[in-house]
Amino acid sequence: MTTPLCTIDPECKSEALYSFVWPWGEAGTCCAVHTVHVNQKADALGRGPVQLMAIDPGRPQTISRDERARLRADIIVRDEDCQALKSQIVELHKSNDAMATEARRLRARTAHLEGVAKDAADDLEAAREERDEAVAALADVTTERDRLRVLVDVAAREAPERG
Ligand SMILES: [Zn+2]
Repeated sequence: MTTPLCTIDPECKSEALYSFVWPWGEAGTCCAVHTVHVNQKADALGRGPVQLMAIDPGRPQTISRDERARLRADIIVRDEDCQALKSQIVELHKSNDAMATEARRLRARTAHLEGVAKDAADDLEAAREERDEAVAALADVTTERDRLRVLVDVAAREAPERG
């Protein structure tokens, strides 16, 4: 891979460290020294600032004092965000555990109530069968009673004539 060269000054033969896009859409590359010229040119046209992108992010770069301070501030803010997210995750785990426990309790309760309902349905069915048997027995007894009544009546009518 060939390293691009600075395009700001035709006399500059330095390796380009940054790529950028002019406000009018044309792409360019520049060396560390000419980064200043890129923004001066854009400012002069009232179109700045131009965003410079490091061509090789792995290349060691000199960082200004201001940039370093800004990066430190960024790191502190992200660290705080990270801590806040960690606490949220811990809270979510706790809440998840609580819900899992509640779900287990409700499943056990449901199984228990299903057992109770089945027992009640069995009892009801047995009671219905007993009732039906009792009704049938009563019908038999009633029929037998009526038959005996008729026999008693007949016997009562016939007895005096024989005597
Ligand atoms: Zn240059």
